[in-house]
Amino acid sequence: METYDALVIGSGHNGLAAAALLGEAGLRVLILERSDRIGGATVSERDRWPGYTISAASYVCSLLDPWLIDRLDLRAHGYDAYRKDPASFTPLLDGRSLLLGADDEKNAAEIAGFDSADIAGFAAFEREAGSLGSALFESFADMEPRFDRFDARVRAALEGSAAALVERHVRTPVLQATLATDGLIGTYRGPFDAGTGYVLAHHYAGRAFGVQGAWGFVRGGMGAISQALLSAAQARGARALTEANVTRLLRDGDSVVGAVTADGREFRARAVLSNAHPITTYRDLLGEEHLDDASKRRLAAWQSVGPALKLNLALGELPNFTARPGTAPQSHHRATIHVAPDLPFLQRAHDDARRLGESEEPMLECFMQTPTDPSLAPQGKHIFSIFAQYFPYDRPDGWSGARRDAAAKKIVAMLARYAPNIPNAIEAQQLMAAPDLEERFGLVGGHIFHGELLPGQIFETRFGVRAPARGLYLCGSGTHPGGCVSGFPGRRAAQAVLADLVLA
Ligand SMILES: Cc1cc2nc3c(=O)[nH]c(=O)nc-3n(C[C@H](O)[C@H](O)[C@H](O)COP(=O)(O)OP(=O)(O)OC[C@H]3O[C@@H](n4cnc5c(N)ncnc54)[C@H](O)[C@@H]3O)c2cc1C
Repeated sequence: METYDALVIGSGHNGLAAAALLGEAGLRVLILERSDRIGGATVSERDRWPGYTISAASYVCSLLDPWLIDRLDLRAHGYDAYRKDPASFTPLLDGRSLLLGADDEKNAAEIAGFDSADIAGFAAFEREAGSLGSALFESFADMEPRFDRFDARVRAALEGSAAALVERHVRTPVLQATLATDGLIGTYRGPFDAGTGYVLAHHYAGRAFGVQGAWGFVRGGMGAISQALLSAAQARGARALTEANVTRLLRDGDSVVGAVTADGREFRARAVLSNAHPITTYRDLLGEEHLDDASKRRLAAWQSVGPALKLNLALGELPNFTARPGTAPQSHHRATIHVAPDLPFLQRAHDDARRLGESEEPMLECFMQTPTDPSLAPQGKHIFSIFAQYFPYDRPDGWSGARRDAAAKKIVAMLARYAPNIPNAIEAQQLMAAPDLEERFGLVGGHIFHGELLPGQIFETRFGVRAPARGLYLCGSGTHPGGCVSGFPGRRAAQAVLADLVLA
C-alpha cells in the first residue's frame, strides 16, 4: 500500500492542473489514469496515422485560465497557443459565403454582401456576447458560485435561447446561424430552446488570447496543454501512472481515504480528487448509498446524453469550396468552417434527432490547424476535424458499425455539396460517436462537458467540489464552471483541498 497526501483519479487537464497546484503547495501527489495516455479529452494522437498529430477530441482553445498559465509557467513547459483568425467561414449552396474575423473593416464588407443594416447589429451582438462572457469569466474561480449574483437582464439572456440573443441584433440568416452555433456545441438542444443562451455566453467567456471570446489553436495540438500541465505537475513532485483504472474508493467510516485499481493496487491519501465524470465517481467508485439525499437526486436527474460525433479526416489536399475556389491555402481554410445556413436548419437538425434518432442534415463545425501549423501532417497533407450534431448517444436502434459508417458517409456527402473535392481527398478517417467518446475518454453518455451546461446544471446546481463523503473532491468538468478546456475545475478543487487540509 502506497501513501500520498493527495490522489488524483484521472489525468484530464483538470486533474493535471489540480495535481500541479497541490504539488506546488508541497503535497505529495499521485495521478491514476485508467487509459494508456495522459490528457483525457485534451489529447494529441501521434500514433494513428504516420506523420500526423491529431487533436482527437477537443481541438480549439479559449477558456484556458490565464492565471493558471502564469502560475504554473506553462509556456516554459511547452504551451504555446495562437489566435484563430479568421474566426468563422460559412459557405452557402448558392455560391455566397460569410467570412468573419478580427478585422472590423473586413467584417463590415462581408456582412454588407448580405445586408449592410447588420454591420452595426453584428458589433452590438459581439458587445453583448462579450459582456455576458466576461461576466461568466469573473465567476469561474468562485468557490461558492451563485447564478443569482447576476442581474435580472443577464440571467434572462443566459436562461433564454441562443436564437433570441442573435435575433435581437442581426437578421441575415447565415449570420444568425453562424453566431448561434456557439450556443449549441456539445448541447442536446436546438437554437430556439431555452438555456442555449448560457452555452453561447460560455463560449464567449475565454480570455486565453487577451481578447474576450477569441479562440485559437495550440502548437502541437491540444495535447500540448496536457503535456505542459503534466510537466508542471512533475516538476512539482507529482507522479502519474497510466493504465491505473480506479474501480473503488477506500473508506474509513464516512471518510474516503484512498483508491483501489482494477489490478488490486491500493493507494492511500488524505485527499482523493476525482477528475472522472460525476456519475462514475458517485455511482461506480463511491457507491450511491454513501450519498446524501440531495446528491442522490442530482445524480438521478443529471443530463448527460451527448449529441456530438467527431470525425477526423486526413486529406491529401485542402477543401476546394465552390464559394471560394482553390486548394492553395487561403484565409477561409484557417477559420472554423460551419455548415449552418440558417436557424431553422439548426433547429431541424436537433428536432430530427429527437424524432428519428439522428439529424437528417447535421450541423457541422470543422477545423483545420494544418494550414497554420504544417508540422501536424506530412507535407501537403491536412487534418480536417469535424464536430457534428446531432448524433445522440441514446439513439433508439443503437450504434452499430454500419450506423457509424452511414454517419460518416452522410457528413462527407454534406461537405461535398460545399467542397466537391473532399470525398476523393480523404486518405484516412477516425470516427468517434458518443459511445466511443464514453469508452475512450470515460465521458459518460458521451457528453463532452461531463453533463449539459444548461440552467439546472450550472453554478450552484452543478456538482460541488466537496463530495458528500469527507476526503473526496470532484476536480473535473462536472463541477463549476463546467466543460471546455479551462482548468478552473481543477484550480477550484485544489483550493478546496488546501483549505481543508490546513484546517484539519
Ligand atoms: C469531441 C470533443 C470535442 C471537444 N472540443 C473542445 C474544444 O475544441 N475546446 C474546448 O475547450 N473543449 C472542447 N471539448 C470539451 C473538453 O475537451 C472537455 O470539457 C475537457 O477536456 C474535460 O476535461 P476534464 O479534465 O474535466 O475531464 P476529461 O478530459 O474527461 O478527463 C477525465 C479523465 O479521467 C479518466 N478516468 C475516468 N474514470 C477513471 C477511473 N475510474 N480511473 C482512472 N481514471 C479515470 C479518464 O480516462 C480521463 O482521462 C471537447 C470534447 C470532446 C469530447
